[in-house]
Amino acid sequence: MLGCFRFQSIFLLCCILLLQSSAGVAAFQFPSSEKMPRTRMKSSPSNQGTNESYSVQTRNPLRLLVLRLGLTELAWTSPLNYQKKEGTYDCAYCGQKLFDTTSKYDSRSGWPSFWRTIEEEALSYKMEMDGRLECQCGRCSSHLGHVFLDGPRQTDVPQELLEASPASDPRSKRENARLPRFCINGASLKVDEKASSSTN
Ligand SMILES: [Zn+2]
Repeated sequence: MLGCFRFQSIFLLCCILLLQSSAGVAAFQFPSSEKMPRTRMKSSPSNQGTNESYSVQTRNPLRLLVLRLGLTELAWTSPLNYQKKEGTYDCAYCGQKLFDTTSKYDSRSGWPSFWRTIEEEALSYKMEMDGRLECQCGRCSSHLGHVFLDGPRQTDVPQELLEASPASDPRSKRENARLPRFCINGASLKVDEKASSSTN
């Protein structure tokens, strides 16, 4: 009888340990929503990046592959490489204004490139495993591209625009370092030619 009680106690202890360990595995496999990688598809136009509401503005498969799955379009395939008309470059998923014509330049990389953002917190950033800094839309967290610190020289851009650059833009601390190169997938951008290119 005593042996049977001991066996039951040991069995119950094993069950408790097993439950605790499986709970730990579950917690590891399913992190909280804030830590989910960018590859998560959003099932509804609910908020993800901030508390600001927005409506999803595209169902284009290529745009969604780039914006929501983080894929990179082939170099030199975006017509926005050659876009020079005045306007703003907005997030194709939520419409957030990201860049404008005044900061667009030809980086010869094959992707539309900009040296500054249009306003503070327009973008958010995430360091990737390979050391690259990913650019995401500051509102909906959609993938846009990457930013590198090998953009134009500070002396090659209008000084009034340089001085008004958003403090949230990544910058090198070295003196006379090159400006950022925001290397953005054209598929993640929507041009608004009617919008003012003013930086305000
Ligand atoms: Zn967005």
